[in-house]
Amino acid sequence: MDFTFHCRHFINGQFIESGDGKRFVNINPATEEELGWVAEGGKEEIDRAVQAAKRALKGEWGKYSVRDRIAVIRRIGDLILERKEEFARLESLDTGKPYSLSLNLDIPRAAYNFHFFADYLHSVGTESYQMDSSQFHYAIRRPVGVVGLINPWNLPLLLLTWKMAPALTMGNTVVAKPAELTPMTATLLAEVIKDAGVPDGVVNIVHGFGPDSAGQFLTEHPDVNAISFTGETHTGKTIMAAAAKSLKRLSFELGGKNPNIIFSDADLDDVIETTIKSSFSNQGEVCLAGSRIYVQRPIYNQFLERFVERTKQLVVGDPFDPKTDVGALISKEHLERVSGYLDIARREGRIIVGGERPQGIKKGYYLEPTIIVDLDEQCRVVKEEIFGPVAAVLPFDTEEEVIARANDSDYGLSATIWTSNLKRAHRVAHQIESGIVWVNTWFLRDLRTPFGGMKHSGIGREGGAHSVDFYSELTNITIKL
Ligand code: NAD
Repeated sequence: MDFTFHCRHFINGQFIESGDGKRFVNINPATEEELGWVAEGGKEEIDRAVQAAKRALKGEWGKYSVRDRIAVIRRIGDLILERKEEFARLESLDTGKPYSLSLNLDIPRAAYNFHFFADYLHSVGTESYQMDSSQFHYAIRRPVGVVGLINPWNLPLLLLTWKMAPALTMGNTVVAKPAELTPMTATLLAEVIKDAGVPDGVVNIVHGFGPDSAGQFLTEHPDVNAISFTGETHTGKTIMAAAAKSLKRLSFELGGKNPNIIFSDADLDDVIETTIKSSFSNQGEVCLAGSRIYVQRPIYNQFLERFVERTKQLVVGDPFDPKTDVGALISKEHLERVSGYLDIARREGRIIVGGERPQGIKKGYYLEPTIIVDLDEQCRVVKEEIFGPVAAVLPFDTEEEVIARANDSDYGLSATIWTSNLKRAHRVAHQIESGIVWVNTWFLRDLRTPFGGMKHSGIGREGGAHSVDFYSELTNITIKL
């Protein structure tokens, strides 16, 4: 394919390469071809970006009125939409996900992140109290300062903007470190940021890796005031330790092993279509994927038969073919990791569909959507996050039993409950240990609601007022009259 896109850092409004000229190669996971090179940032680039962000806080940006900020942030969203095909193309080339998904979900949502938070700022207030006529207390909000944003590769632009939009809305400046495997849409976003008229230094993007590279240096930099991180739980622990030295504010969105609980009285048509999405959309590379599917015994066989049938119909292949449902996994290493879990699944249980490279596809990191059965609750494929198109299906008998099994996990990100019994839906939802519970649906979002996980799935919540709180500092002022 005749395509090249190189990714430079964006620091203080300029596109630059690393001082030492270091670069790495970006690979298209669907074809294994080179997409271009990426500047590899180190200590020097992180420091330049942080200093630019620090200066920008005190410059023109720091003097913007709320109205000015709303206007420029809305403009970023508008410009993303104007170039949405370009963004979607880069996103699919980088990730291997279907172009239709990038075009209809990732990119519009990225634009909406800016529109939503710009609009939300109109209604952000603070507290004020009066005990009696002689004393008055009120709080003001200020930016936290320089915020480091570290993102994974599965929803590159959607998750970067989910952090950047509220950070800018609250008046911060940012240094973002996109995932090394998916640097392209962040680079295009930098162009949009410039075109929207955001002052230099307010947004900085430094490419590179995690350990001993741009990621680590960002989390260790003493002038970074907060880190918002989405990625693996293990990486979260490393970042927390690094950030502790300079006591940074942290927000963590981490891994998940999310249960789908399907009771016998559920609407099975709806269950099947939604479960196909929650297990296999974005190649199953979704933190919210339903990867443990508990089905009540009376409908277990019927569910399994229909779920398998529907899974077989999924078209795996070229992300740019409109018929494609499931694209390529992100990298050779990730395909090997997921395939390793399939070896475990063959020992621990039984693969009843999928588990192989799709026939006829010679290049690219593809894997058939896979369903595993005959598993014990303690099996590794039931306990560990696989982050691929792999679902484990397990039968259950009682409500009490399935709640205990669903909660028997280190993770606590999301859960889906399927039932037509309203009382049961509420009762079970209240007992599930996760930050998000969907009833008779999946991935339905309202950006005002708290988003995040409990246990090893995260620290803090983002969305609406929760993002406003994370990305702002409160000062309480007391006046004696
Ligand atoms: P990852 O943790 O390997 O990498 C994420 C980012 O952290 C990358 O930019 C990487 O370069 C950087 N990084 C790695 N080590 C670092 C270090 N020591 N210091 C600083 N930065 C470092 O995760 P991934 O493989 O890119 O993404 C998959 C994971 O993300 C899965 O566990 C998934 O569940 C999780 N995820 C969670 C959510 C959520 O909202 N909870 C959303 C999407 C993905």
